[in-house]
Amino acid sequence: MAAAYSLAWDVPLRERNTFRIDCRARCLATVRDAAFLPELFADSAIAGLPVFVLGEGSNVLFAGGAYEGVVLHLVDGAARVTGQDDHVARVHVGAAMNWDALVDWSLDRGLRGLENLALIPGQAGAAPIQNIGAYGAEVGAFVAAVAAYDRARGHAVALDAQDCAFAYRDSIFKREADRYVVTAIELDLHRDDATNTAYAGLREELAAMGEAPPTPRNVAAAVRRIRRRKLPDPAVVGNAGSFFKNPIVAPAVAAELQARFTDLPVFPGGAAALRKLSAAWLIERAGWRGYREGDAGISSQHALVLVNHGNATGAQLLGLARRVADDVQRQFGVRLEPEPRIIGANF
Ligand SMILES: Cc1cc2nc3c(=O)[nH]c(=O)nc-3n(C[C@H](O)[C@H](O)[C@H](O)COP(=O)(O)OP(=O)(O)OC[C@H]3O[C@@H](n4cnc5c(N)ncnc54)[C@H](O)[C@@H]3O)c2cc1C
Repeated sequence: MAAAYSLAWDVPLRERNTFRIDCRARCLATVRDAAFLPELFADSAIAGLPVFVLGEGSNVLFAGGAYEGVVLHLVDGAARVTGQDDHVARVHVGAAMNWDALVDWSLDRGLRGLENLALIPGQAGAAPIQNIGAYGAEVGAFVAAVAAYDRARGHAVALDAQDCAFAYRDSIFKREADRYVVTAIELDLHRDDATNTAYAGLREELAAMGEAPPTPRNVAAAVRRIRRRKLPDPAVVGNAGSFFKNPIVAPAVAAELQARFTDLPVFPGGAAALRKLSAAWLIERAGWRGYREGDAGISSQHALVLVNHGNATGAQLLGLARRVADDVQRQFGVRLEPEPRIIGANF
């Protein structure tokens, strides 16, 4: 039987992050059985080293060269239904399961909701970290509980959706970075919910596909078509999807900008009648789309995506991202915040 966890030293990470940053970890801890996390954290071989949980590396920028600590990677996640009635099923998902495989797994069982989140890269255990969202849906709406190992308390905990404090690309796990190792998520998925086609681009895609009325399967197909067309494929050019969050601003700020730029897209910003601006529009309007400096660049396909054309370092990508944010602030007075976790440097 394979060991519950294993340690490897001086491990290359280039194939473990979608930016394809060439860096190394002092130690890689591969965890097959999350029940053994207390033993791992008590292991004298890693005593005193910082620990960073890495899923599929699709939302992380290694900006500081080698990571002088332990990269903890969970493997072997699976999904199962743990309870259900005619309308809703409670689904338990091991953290290491691939997210998009989970979307297909749920659709195969007639369970709805995750179709709008199809083709988001990464592990299921990473989904609550930034409350992944796309095409009018966020995972937080389906989370009943998150099982985690709490490093501050030294034992396993279960957090309900309220404890997770989900917000736009945010949660307790992002705010208290590295405190929790998510070991599983519990989702409530419905059998009879209406498909969510609130997002205009999704309705247009379904219409172009001739799919009416839309089923969850063809919503997933439409989302995958849009994503393949709009976003650069990390297998072809290194990237972490959107590099910046859409800025949330006061209504007066949005109104003042809209008076100057009548084509600026503005969306509802969640609580307190705030407004969400399109970061992609701001970056494109500032003239950065398609910009390239050595191997670091801004995608010509999508202005929100920072790309590594080959051998850019994390520091070069971070330097470019900072200049884009500074320029947007100078031109529009709005501060962009990065979406991925930046390791080894501050933004
Ligand atoms: C092409 C592309 C498109 C994308 N599109 C979207 C999108 O539409 N919407 C969206 O929200 N995101 C999107 N992303 C970002 C990314 O896919 C998600 O954030 C995803 O959830 C990251 O999963 P991961 O396993 O790769 O996490 P990683 O990148 O490995 O880690 C990201 C963060 O989560 C933490 N983490 C990961 N697993 C755990 C765990 N088990 N316990 C505790 N902490 C953990 C890490 O420490 C790190 O802070 C996109 C990325 C790419 C490359």
